[in-house]
Amino acid sequence: MQQEEALARILQEVQPLPARSIALADAVDCFAASDIFAPVSLPLFDNSAMDGYAVVANSCVAGTRLAVIDEQPAGIDRGLSVAPGEAIRIFTGAPVPRGADAIVMQEDTTVAGSEIVINVTVEQGEFVRRRGADVVAGQKILSAGERVRPATIGLLAAQGIADVTVGGEVRVAIISTGDELAAPGAVLQPGQIYESNSSLLRALSEKRGVKVVSVTHCPDRADAIRAALRAGAACDAMIISGGVSVGARDLVKAALAQVGAELQLWRVAVKPGKPFLFGRAGQCAMFGLPGNPVSAFVTFLLFVRPALLRLMGAPDDALSLPSVPARLGADVQNDSERVHYIRGVIAAGIFTPFGRQESHALFGLSRSNAILKVGPAELLAEGAEVNIFTWG
Ligand code: AMP
Ligand code: MG
Repeated sequence: MQQEEALARILQEVQPLPARSIALADAVDCFAASDIFAPVSLPLFDNSAMDGYAVVANSCVAGTRLAVIDEQPAGIDRGLSVAPGEAIRIFTGAPVPRGADAIVMQEDTTVAGSEIVINVTVEQGEFVRRRGADVVAGQKILSAGERVRPATIGLLAAQGIADVTVGGEVRVAIISTGDELAAPGAVLQPGQIYESNSSLLRALSEKRGVKVVSVTHCPDRADAIRAALRAGAACDAMIISGGVSVGARDLVKAALAQVGAELQLWRVAVKPGKPFLFGRAGQCAMFGLPGNPVSAFVTFLLFVRPALLRLMGAPDDALSLPSVPARLGADVQNDSERVHYIRGVIAAGIFTPFGRQESHALFGLSRSNAILKVGPAELLAEGAEVNIFTWG
């Protein structure tokens, strides 16, 4: 099956989870479930942008002496007024006294007892932050489907908003399979290797903002795999690695059938990642990723990531990988009949393949920040204009 058809089938099977209201501080990377309109204007009131003196601008030229009649700190509105010939000591963020239309920076004044001398010509409106100049009450400040970023959280907090309605929490189970795998930290027996996919997939999932509720490792034994599949099926999504190919020890496909899961697709024309499978059990979307680490990474980006984003409430136009134009730093050739995703580095607009392009070779992947899609039998020459994909 072609990649596009596989993704379309997967996306047909996953729908956004019900929205929920959560504390603003917990909402980073979630998707807003509804439009938000500003409850208040920002700034909330006319206030001073500087430590200095509130004055009447047209009574101030360089050399003017003003009587300092009072002080207006931040945090309380003392309801003061100022007239021509007078100044009120004021601090950053403090409400501008009635009658004042400018603030003179303290650096532009000389203190002379209870008076100040102004050393500059004062412009009307100078260093006054006007009420509503940034945000007007009622204005839309966040649209449904937008991702909540740290700066969004800052804005909503400044609006006094404590809770926000976002897409549902996506709960994910991760299962790795393979007799040859030992946990990092364990002592390796001859022939064993360290199990790395669950760490990789967990990091990728959490970076997307989903909740990984379990990480399980299974030997290549049908009963163990069935038990893990049954336990994970309570989640919204399950990401299984290894055991999805055609070997005698590739038991995941059969185990899915045995636990009553429905296999939707198996094998996609991408390199790396051909043995990828997708199925579902009840509400759980089940992704079977090839065991080779780079295959697991690429199929996560191509198929799991968009599905997780949709479950989280992302709009359709936010499901694809970010794409940027680049020039090729080297010739690239795809000898296979499948689409090949080449890993490499984009720097200063130039994409250069990096490291070994084999599906077990993690080092090159670890140094890469982009992938290039090369069509079957396609040859791309150094200097060619291409679009590459990144994953943030
Ligand atoms: P499989 O898809 O199970 O046939 O595995 C393909 C290759 O990926 C084999 O070399 C496995 O040892 C390796 N592999 C499978 N699962 C993992 C894993 N979780 N971590 C690291 N390597 C793995
Ligand atoms: Mg295996």
